[in-house]
Amino acid sequence: MSATIIDGKAFAAKVREQVAEHVARLKAEHGITPGLAVVLVGEDPASQVYVRSKGKQTAEAGMNSFERKLPVETSEADLLAVVQELNADPAVHGILVQLPLPAHVNSDLVINAIDPAKDVDGFHISNVGLLGTGQKSMVPCTPLGCLMLLRDHLGSLSGLNAVVVGRSNIVGKPMAQLLLGDSCTVTIAHSRTKDLAAVCRGADILVAAVGRPEMIPGDWVKPGAVVIDVGINRIERDGKTRLVGDVDFASAVEVAGAITPVPGGVGPMTIACLLANTLTACRRANGLAEPEGLTA
Ligand code: NAP
Repeated sequence: MSATIIDGKAFAAKVREQVAEHVARLKAEHGITPGLAVVLVGEDPASQVYVRSKGKQTAEAGMNSFERKLPVETSEADLLAVVQELNADPAVHGILVQLPLPAHVNSDLVINAIDPAKDVDGFHISNVGLLGTGQKSMVPCTPLGCLMLLRDHLGSLSGLNAVVVGRSNIVGKPMAQLLLGDSCTVTIAHSRTKDLAAVCRGADILVAAVGRPEMIPGDWVKPGAVVIDVGINRIERDGKTRLVGDVDFASAVEVAGAITPVPGGVGPMTIACLLANTLTACRRANGLAEPEGLTA
């Protein structure tokens, strides 16, 4: 039996469409245009690609896109001053500081200087705490995207055994909190986990966020499980560069009930959720209801 392929690319397009409809209504009914500011320090080529893509998709959703490109030698104090300026700007509802920052800058300090209400990446310590205590927060984009795909495929997640492989602050930990919030029984596995294969085999929902190409083979997957592969790994195969996930897709697709491909699975959901978070931040800032289906 071959698994259902969860089409994250198509789902992300639907999310972006929903966001764009909300934005058009916000403009027509309230005269408000959501704005997202992206701050990029330095010229890291991968970060430049992400920032360009974020700017393009923000504009396509009808939002205002503000880009602040700063030289690599920008001091921590100057970067903090830019963050404060954006915090105070009423046209800016979401602020994203592209990571990684240069080594001379304390990333935690900068992230925690962002107004939590505008922290559309959900990395501010206040948002981490709110999520951990089940309160309304800004939720990190990639785990939010995974949750949306899971809810869309499964409906209720209540009572299911979920295993998250990876415990990063960006993906693994917030993913586990979101699954717990949807009443899964959650296990967080990591590099010290004993008998990872057996742990994974107990999962009705298996989320892989490791960063190791094709590490999880099909025989670690419970028959019928839903597999969400967050990994994005660039490898050389047959003289060509290609992207693969943390799950060995070829063997897992034969066992799983449903699986996200790489590319075209979780990846496209991240920017779609960034737009959704910017919309949410804007609506909250204006005392309006949460956009249904676009939050945790
Ligand atoms: P990370 O910060 O490097 O964390 C990796 C986690 O995997 C760590 O918790 C680590 O455990 C665990 N790990 C490493 N080797 C392991 C092993 N052999 N067995 C079990 N666990 C192991 O990575 P991340 O930022 O969470 O990203 C994970 C992957 O997701 C990467 O491929 C990244 O490119 C991708 N990603 C994709 C998106 C997207 O789709 N938009 C967004 C973010 C990340 P320890 O804590 O014990 O070291």
